[in-house]
Amino acid sequence: MEEKFIDKILICTDCKEEFVFTASAQEYFAGKGFMDDPRRCKSCYLELKRAKRRSERELTGKGHFETELPEAELSLTGDDVPNGNSREESDLD
Ligand SMILES: [Zn+2]
Repeated sequence: MEEKFIDKILICTDCKEEFVFTASAQEYFAGKGFMDDPRRCKSCYLELKRAKRRSERELTGKGHFETELPEAELSLTGDDVPNGNSREESDLD
């Protein structure tokens, strides 16, 4: 018999917000062998995952971690670099 998944409303244990555990997500979870409902919304889950990776990095030492950074994270750090607008002013003088 075919099992049908339906969207479920769950409460995130971290931010206490309601979030939807969609039918397709349930199917995906079941396919991976996870039987329990997720306890966190997607953003809290990603935040937790990121924090975990960060602490793992700190535990395993330094040096090689930069190669593991996904491109999105690399471009985020690049935006923080100031682009030296003040130099134009001094050139005018
Ligand atoms: Zn949350």
